[in-house]
Formats: sequence, structure tokens, C-alpha cells
Amino acid sequence: MRRHINIPIFVVHLGCPHQCSFCNQRTISGQACFDIEEMVRTVESCLATAGDAEVEIAFFGGSFTGIDRALMTKILRRVQPYLQSGRVSSLRCSTRPDYINEEILDILEAYGMKTVELGIQSMSDKVLSACHRGHTAEDSERAARLLVSRGFSFVGQMMVGLPGSTAEDEIETAERIAALGAVGARVYPTVVFRKTPLCLAAEEGRYTPLSLTEAVERAASAVSVFRARDIPVIRVGLQANEAMAEGSEILGGPVHPALGELVESALYRRRIEGALEKKSYGGQLLCLTVARGATSAVIGQNKQNKIYLCRAYGFSAVTVTESAALCKGDIIIKTEKIEKTEERKRICT
Ligand code: SF4
Repeated sequence: MRRHINIPIFVVHLGCPHQCSFCNQRTISGQACFDIEEMVRTVESCLATAGDAEVEIAFFGGSFTGIDRALMTKILRRVQPYLQSGRVSSLRCSTRPDYINEEILDILEAYGMKTVELGIQSMSDKVLSACHRGHTAEDSERAARLLVSRGFSFVGQMMVGLPGSTAEDEIETAERIAALGAVGARVYPTVVFRKTPLCLAAEEGRYTPLSLTEAVERAASAVSVFRARDIPVIRVGLQANEAMAEGSEILGGPVHPALGELVESALYRRRIEGALEKKSYGGQLLCLTVARGATSAVIGQNKQNKIYLCRAYGFSAVTVTESAALCKGDIIIKTEKIEKTEERKRICT
């Protein structure tokens, strides 16, 4: 299968007159303005190292279809030679649900846009209103249906831990995104960026961000909804760009460089617990077999899962073996009695 490369082009606040309470696009994208020739240089430099990979240009960061129409079409025209020559195989953009209509889709279709990522964030009107999103769940339904009916691939972006949002709201959001025909999803735990209304709310005690543990569990619940329906989750958590790495732009919230891995570990732990009985397995060994490369996720960061399973279920030890016969995400769970005291000692040390 051909390698796939995404060339991300950030359009920041160009297309967005809104101020969602959690959003500081300049912080997220690490830049404050847009330069078409700079975009071309970025595309060229990525293509220079792309080899025979399948390349997609992805317009992220703001609301692409909300950009001034002349500028949006100028950007789209500028990338047409890449599509026509076959050096780039497709285009993708992210936008708000209320910036999708038939006329906009006519333009996107004419310029070869294939995938549209909708910033749905929540399917609860109460949450959308608390975040000053400026659109409703009905807008998201309408936009997603229109995209699918017009033959675009639709990806749903959602958040966990938004003001007023519960774990149940988030599961329902994931279920509704899945039911609308999403071909992919992104799940973002809410981070409190400085100089945002959410930052003020947090400073005044009107909003408390999720802890890292809560965010991991809530994101895991959303991811499991998508996985159960074979919808790939493209990303969990924000990309760690320099602004985030510095941390200076962030007041608080669940920021972790390997959030996706923490969520994978939580999902493995849930699957293992789902296969165990609610009893003590004192003196027994928990034997796990996973696909190649999955050991660290199943063990958990700082052996978190191993330690938890031993404490909660009384296992003497947990062993993990990788098998080339298993696919990513597969797991075989067995328990074994450790008969000999000496053997128990050897495994547990
Ligand atoms: S619509 Fe998107 S880009 Fe605009 S303020 Fe909200 S989150 Fe930020």
C-alpha cells in the first residue's frame, strides 16, 4: 500500500469571525497570517521529500469555507497544477458546519476537494451555546448530510470536556457523528489557551478543565464508539507544535505529548477488564498476547495498566507477548495458575 502524506496548510482565523470560548487559532497554528506564496513553498518542500507517497494538501486551522470567497478560490486555484500533474492526489479542509451549503460545495467540487472535516465539537445545543459556538447541532446534521449526499468524505471533529459537557453528551456526540456517515473522526480534549474566554472562565472559577486522567477516559469512550463502527480515529489530542511545547500559551487542561497512546492504554485496560470476572485472581498470572509493537500501549505508561490489574484483580504478575499473527488492536487474554512457589517468585521479581 502506498504511503500517505498530508501537507497541512494552516489558514488560521482568516475564515472565522467567531470566537468560540476555547479557541485561540493563532496559538494552535503557530502563525497569525496567511501567505499564498509561503503555502506554495511549503507544498514544494514537502513534495521534494515525498517520494512515491500519495500526497494530500489539507487546509486546517480556521474555517476554510468561511474565508473571503475571492481568497478561498485564489488558494484553490493556486494548488490546481499539483492536482492536474498528479503530484498531489487530493485536497481536504476543515470548516464549521454552518459554513457548508450547496453553493460552497459547488466551488469545492469544482476545485477537486475530496474530504471536508466538520468542527462539530458537540451535538448538545446546551454545550454549543455555553462555548459560544454560534451554531446548533441541527446545523451539524444538515452539513454532514449535505456533504455525504454530494459525495464528499466527511470527517467529524469533536471535543471532550467542553463547558457544560458530560461524558454522556460526548458519547452521544460520537454516536451521532458515526450515524451521519463519518469516514473518520478526531477527538480533542479541551485545553485552556490563554487570552480566550475559556481562560477567563477558568481564572474566575467558572470552568474547571478535565484532569489528564478524566480526559483520557472520556476520549477513550468516544474513540470506542467510533472503533465499534470501524470508523478510524485520525487523531486524539492537539498536535504538539512549538507554542504548545513551550506551554506558555496554555493555562491548563489535559496536555500530554502522547495523549493518543494514553487513550490506547485505557482502551486495552477496558478490554482486558471486560474479559475478566469481577473477582480476585490471587496467585494467578495474567497472560496477554498482542500484535507487534503494542506492548507499551497494553502495559501503559509507567506500567500503569500492569500495576492496576495486579492491584484490582490480585494477579501475581502480567506477561505480555507479541505475535505477528495478530492485527493491530487484537488481544488474547488468558489467566494461568502459578503452581510452584519458586516459579511465582521468579515471575514476580
Ligand atoms: S469556529 Fe473554529 S476557528 Fe473559529 S473561533 Fe471557533 S474553533 Fe476557532
